[in-house]
Amino acid sequence: MRRIEIFDTTLRDGEQSPGVALNAEEKLQIAHQLGKLGVNVLEAGFPIASPGDFEGVRRIAQEVRNVGVAALARANAKDIERAWEAISGGESPRIHTFIATSPIHMQYKLQKSPDEVFEQAVQAVRLAKSKVSDIEFSAEDASRSDVDFLARVFTGVIQAGATVLNVPDTVGYATPEEYAAFLKAIMERTTGIEKVKVSVHCHNDLGLAVANSLAAVGIGVHQLECTVNGIGERAGNAALEELVMALHTRRDQFNVETSIVTSEIARTSQLVSRLTGMMIQHNKAIVGKNAFAHESGIHQDGMLKERSTYEIMSPSIIGVDVESIVLGKHSGRHAVQQRLADLGLELEDSHFEELFSRFKLLADRKREVTTADLFSLVDEQKEKTDQINLDYLQISSGTHLVPTATVGLMYQGQRLADAACGDGPVDAAFKAIDKVLGTQGKLSHYSLQALDGGEDAQGEVTVSVKFGENLVAGRGVSTDIIEASVRGYLQAVNRAYTRGWIEIKQ
Ligand SMILES: [Zn+2]
Repeated sequence: MRRIEIFDTTLRDGEQSPGVALNAEEKLQIAHQLGKLGVNVLEAGFPIASPGDFEGVRRIAQEVRNVGVAALARANAKDIERAWEAISGGESPRIHTFIATSPIHMQYKLQKSPDEVFEQAVQAVRLAKSKVSDIEFSAEDASRSDVDFLARVFTGVIQAGATVLNVPDTVGYATPEEYAAFLKAIMERTTGIEKVKVSVHCHNDLGLAVANSLAAVGIGVHQLECTVNGIGERAGNAALEELVMALHTRRDQFNVETSIVTSEIARTSQLVSRLTGMMIQHNKAIVGKNAFAHESGIHQDGMLKERSTYEIMSPSIIGVDVESIVLGKHSGRHAVQQRLADLGLELEDSHFEELFSRFKLLADRKREVTTADLFSLVDEQKEKTDQINLDYLQISSGTHLVPTATVGLMYQGQRLADAACGDGPVDAAFKAIDKVLGTQGKLSHYSLQALDGGEDAQGEVTVSVKFGENLVAGRGVSTDIIEASVRGYLQAVNRAYTRGWIEIKQ
């Protein structure tokens, strides 16, 4: 069976989703998981965009092995030099350079003639080739470009050394049959196309990103670009999990295979959702909370008699273990340890003891401790290095009260406390933290969701906070949503503090 490559751009296009801001540490965590998932290439970022982007890409290239690492660069020398600087320490680096080729982009955005664009594309690839052998060239807005002009550009960049040609549907305008016909025409008219890989990159503005990508598979492209949970600019990109599971479940139709370890899909999806703060809609294909839920009596009856009556794939194939043992307050050390091991979350003994005592506290507060809860306990364990910790929190709030919060924090062995009023209890608590520390955080994004279903689910809060010019994200989990908010805010404060973006008054 033909192998098709998966190029993941969660950390570049996905990271461009409105409201998402990942730091280098979080990007690295996602990159390691993408490695486990088995993607062929991961696009780590756009190094010229900011020092933070550069650092994220550099660390991923250095630390994540057994997967290609790509860095994005516009078709100019400065971008390409910077991209190369970021990935040169990698095992299999790829420079991904791009320029727009559609009449509308060339005229209004670039203000360049087609000849100038052709020249710039070829020059850029030539420069990139002087640094590294693996070069991907993308013709931005390809699907709205003139076929003959695009074929001329592609022929030129192949001669200059490009190894992968990407034909993006940048604005999500294409339809499946039209896109397939367009790709076919490009492949027929480009000289040397047989020497390179052809790639597609589809956006979801009309909900057709996955359909368009699958249509491209049918005419023999070699690489699919996608993101976990379909996050990305505007309506997002083709969703990795949907593409992979469509190809897998309907191999009879597509006749291709991928290198994806499907049992890592659910875990990857959860991790990306958690760290980006982008929630997954319940009815989302493959990874939504309801994707494998059967509600109606007729369906449940059918499922009990024979699963394949209403199930085209088993949840276990994407790593959702529906029949997993339930952990609660009667669970012992061994059961918890076993479950952590099943999830690939082994901890050192001393760390495990600490986690276990927090597990017991949590089990007292809610009936069932779910997989998501365990992940968050492990996350918290990693945050133990925080400089500023919550000591206590007291809130008064009600229909006829001015919401007031008193917050006690531990900083360098000292207990610091103060109180503040606000528009609501969360606002009051954030203001109290700022008062204690002498900081001035500006909340730019706040989201709250239940970590798992059920009436006693933990609340998970994600925040983005601006300290001066710097945006930093934080996440907190608790059975109490105000406490979760405060923990999220404190995580952002700690991150800003570690980076030297804020000073703490004593
Ligand atoms: Zn894109």
